[in-house]
Amino acid sequence: MKKIQILGKEYKIEYVDNKTLGGNCGDCNTEQAYIRINKETTKQHQEDTLLHEVIHIISEEVDLELTEPQTRRLATVLYSIGVRVHG
Ligand SMILES: [Zn+2]
Repeated sequence: MKKIQILGKEYKIEYVDNKTLGGNCGDCNTEQAYIRINKETTKQHQEDTLLHEVIHIISEEVDLELTEPQTRRLATVLYSIGVRVHG
């Protein structure tokens, strides 16, 4: 089981199948402290999604109130300059 610390809180990172996520790339839950990534996508896509989900969590934990499109753009830009989450 992979884990990551975000702002002092430990999150589980689970790689699940496409069906479990209803066709989504990933999701996250701050209360239950987990991130799920669709393992039926490319490695690059999974890394991008992990970064995206971590940004959602940061946004929620420090009240940035980022929207889905803002989160998507921020993740894409950070990914393009080489930022990776090592989950
Ligand atoms: Zn999202």
